[in-house]
Amino acid sequence: MQLNPYGEYAVLLAASLANDWPEDRAGIEARTRVFGMTMPFPEAPNDHAETRRMIDQWLAVVDADSDAERARLLNVLMKRATAYPRLVDHDNEGWHLHYRDDDQTMPHVLRAVISVGTALHLTTRGMHRLARCAAGATPGDPCTDVVVDITRNGRQRYCSVRCANRDAVRRHRARAQA
Ligand SMILES: [Zn+2]
Ligand SMILES: [Zn+2]
Repeated sequence: MQLNPYGEYAVLLAASLANDWPEDRAGIEARTRVFGMTMPFPEAPNDHAETRRMIDQWLAVVDADSDAERARLLNVLMKRATAYPRLVDHDNEGWHLHYRDDDQTMPHVLRAVISVGTALHLTTRGMHRLARCAAGATPGDPCTDVVVDITRNGRQRYCSVRCANRDAVRRHRARAQA
């Protein structure tokens, strides 16, 4: 997989898996294709559960309550997943960098790609550009989706127009009552 300078596709893949978790291994693999990964993964019996565990660790990075804590958690993920960068040329992608050793299992590859991609995203776009949808901050609101802010102005707070509208209606009502 080619991580562009911002790590954008890797971090969007992570959010997609977190927000809409595939029910089986084939579903995870299909999702990696949607986000531009071409490499085949050798099949292991615990791929689905192990990938879920990794996504839960990544969600702790999303939910960290300070930049320092976010960096600390992400560093733990990267330490376990990554090796020195190396140049590779596979599946007709052209020469590009991998940040992992030759263990090509699905959970291992995704842990490396997603942790490095998230680090690139946060350091190039801003440490705050990864959060839960702001609508979910209201007690009782059902949205728990992750928002990866790749907008130019860096002010995306909602996962969808629907959530933005629901929150706007609530704020309007609160003002009307006040
Ligand atoms: Zn690659
Ligand atoms: Zn939402």
